[in-house]
Amino acid sequence: MRKKLGDRIAAFKDANAIKEKGLYPYFRSIESAQDTEVIIEGKKVLMFGSNSYLGLTNHPKIKEAAKLAVDKYGTGCAGSRFLNGTLDIHLELERRLAAYVGKEAAVLFSTGFQVNLGVISCLLERNDYLILDEYDHASIIDGSRLSFSRTIKYAHNDMEDLRKKLSRLPEDSAKLIVADGIFSMEGDIVKLPEIVQLADEFGANIMMDDAHSLGVIGFNGSGVASHFNLTNDVDLIMGTFSKSFASLGGFIAGTEETIEYIKHRARSLMFSASMTPSAVASVIAALDIIESEPERIDKLWDNTNYAKKLLLNAGFDIGHTDSPIIPVYIRDNDKTFLITNILHRNGIFVNPVVSPAVPSDSSLIRFSLMATHTFAQIEEAVDKLYAAFKEVQLTPVKVSI
Ligand code: PMP
Repeated sequence: MRKKLGDRIAAFKDANAIKEKGLYPYFRSIESAQDTEVIIEGKKVLMFGSNSYLGLTNHPKIKEAAKLAVDKYGTGCAGSRFLNGTLDIHLELERRLAAYVGKEAAVLFSTGFQVNLGVISCLLERNDYLILDEYDHASIIDGSRLSFSRTIKYAHNDMEDLRKKLSRLPEDSAKLIVADGIFSMEGDIVKLPEIVQLADEFGANIMMDDAHSLGVIGFNGSGVASHFNLTNDVDLIMGTFSKSFASLGGFIAGTEETIEYIKHRARSLMFSASMTPSAVASVIAALDIIESEPERIDKLWDNTNYAKKLLLNAGFDIGHTDSPIIPVYIRDNDKTFLITNILHRNGIFVNPVVSPAVPSDSSLIRFSLMATHTFAQIEEAVDKLYAAFKEVQLTPVKVSI
């Protein structure tokens, strides 16, 4: 590496302090399938840090569908959707997803991140306005950076602030409000009915990022617009397959015209290889299961409500969550790393969320539920969380939600 860049890389010390304390929690190697129990360093660990909300990543029917797709189509498409990378199953999945979320058409991208990058940057031009919740996902923020439009942020889920920000924008400008359906760290739900009202009043379009809402809320888990019965008021519905859908990839759904536009403008779609056959087939199989076994979603919510009850009874501060994503606030970076480490040693996998991802007085442990957890596993995790708090002399402080 030449000097200039080499010096910068050599000066990178961000992770050192936490590594020196033996508390580095990232890039942990898992030696098994992503399930409620995983194997790490040869030992069983209970998984409470997965986005596999419906617990489908190790489902025999989905694995079988993936294997059959490899047999029929091979392992990769060796090209973008635009050119040689469109298979019949890509088109089948697009039709299925459009019907699932209640839109005319959909198009697949290779990851959810690429959906937000490509869609936001291709729709908005100079003099347009992109209006974001301050807690929107990194892929939405990066999409805004690729777009030539101006970006305005409103305080998290604060509809007064959104109104204030919208009221200052030129009446005749194109405006797109983009928000997470369920916020990925806090677990709260977007205030969609109020956003729809404001969008009507100020002439804005709406895009919902349903990464964490698909398979979780709405009819058959079809997302936040369905949950509020506002599908016709949301212009664009974005989803990923890396969470409830047990695979990898993403999609955007909207009117035929909008999808046609995106297919010919979104650079992260046109200049990137298409979803692999096994990934597509897995999503089709996952969708079959989600649509035919709605009891899985009921079980996810039973688990979520049970975990919330136990956590609240124990006095933990879990913020305003309304979903299987439960933040356990610690509000101190070092203690968050320490508690994560104690839990890990005691066989519980959770994710620490510290600054700069959140302000340091909001650092938290992200505790997430799966439909396949048992009540006994949830009890064990909450007990161990309580013990870990005690070990670092932190008292769970009761904050009502
Ligand atoms: N949007 C949100 C809200 C997310 O949480 C994520 C992933 N964590 C993405 C988009 C990106 O999805 P993917 O993993 O499919 O790239």
